[in-house]
Amino acid sequence: MRISSATEDDIKSGKTADVYFTKTVGILSSGFPDKKVVMDVTFSGSEFPFILLSGLNDLLSIIEGRRVDIEAIPEGTLIPNRDAKGIPLPVLTISGNYKEFSVMETALLGCLSQASGISTKSCMIRAAAGDLPYISFGIRRMHPAISPMIDRSAYIGGADGVSGLMGAELIEQEAVGTMPHALSLLLGDKEAWKMCAQTTGGKKTLLIDTFDDEKFAALKAAEEIKDLDYVRLDTPSSRRGNFGNLVREVRWELDLRGYRNVKIMVSGGLDAKSVLDLRKAGAEAFGVGTSVASAKPVDFALDIVEIEGKPLAKRGKFSGRKKVLRCHDCRRVTVVPFGSTEKKCGCGGDLENLLKPVMKAGKLTDPYPSPSKIRDRTLGEMKLGSALISQALENGD
Ligand SMILES: [Zn+2]
Repeated sequence: MRISSATEDDIKSGKTADVYFTKTVGILSSGFPDKKVVMDVTFSGSEFPFILLSGLNDLLSIIEGRRVDIEAIPEGTLIPNRDAKGIPLPVLTISGNYKEFSVMETALLGCLSQASGISTKSCMIRAAAGDLPYISFGIRRMHPAISPMIDRSAYIGGADGVSGLMGAELIEQEAVGTMPHALSLLLGDKEAWKMCAQTTGGKKTLLIDTFDDEKFAALKAAEEIKDLDYVRLDTPSSRRGNFGNLVREVRWELDLRGYRNVKIMVSGGLDAKSVLDLRKAGAEAFGVGTSVASAKPVDFALDIVEIEGKPLAKRGKFSGRKKVLRCHDCRRVTVVPFGSTEKKCGCGGDLENLLKPVMKAGKLTDPYPSPSKIRDRTLGEMKLGSALISQALENGD
């Protein structure tokens, strides 16, 4: 038996390409001259008013060594679906001979599309959770071959931690986890809680709803474990009813008995809206799984916009190389022709081209930033772009 996933070599050598690319290269190689092209990666919209870009790391790893130049918007950037005039934004531009990289299109788009979908959703959860801890718990819903990518994208989108061992290694953080229901089933609650509390280095979090009602089990756990930090409610959907009201009740009972220091962590089928509701109800930490791990991919496309220095694009696409200018002050984003020399926004603020050179002749121009540096960028972008995010949260996305 062999696991049904591609290896790194399979991907880099083009084995995961759609067949029409190898067919096209075959035709072009039968006596036609190779041509220098510029291609844009754009998206025509997304589930939210913006995307939070990620996945560029894997894209660059895949194409490294092929003679291409790449300019890209950095990972962790909050990008509106269209510019201020309604023009689609190129998030990345590849220049080079068409035959040099065309077979990689499928893999390049796949990396950006899935990772950006996850980091965008994760950014929504981050916003809904405010300053409270949010942990990515979703790798069990997806193929294990991509679990590090899922955890990295969730972290870049703003998750505080991830549950996967390999994902944690990739983002250079300790994996975060509480305990499975299995431990309570095997040892009984009392023994399982005691052992978990003894063996946990960080915050002590106990799962309390294996056997009993959440209210009574939370009080029992708080009595048993003196320095307990969190009780975790992972109430099954068949018992859930109104999860917010359950959280309110548990909070009330803990407070009444002097356990204000014991906080409530919730998990199980959460999305941005339920995180927001449960936060209002008194939950103070969130484990989010499927909604982030299986987030809708961003529909990125890669299209020729210039051939041998001349603008040319198919119907429905904007031709020519471009700059993506963003104002430092008012955050207005405009797409302009590459030759444009605009330096100042209408508001007087300085304009910055978000497309930065990242690869020259197949080599990285600079050492690639660490996941925590990229996550810092995300958090900065979220502060400055809070109006877009609030709009999405209010829409109930
Ligand atoms: Zn401005």
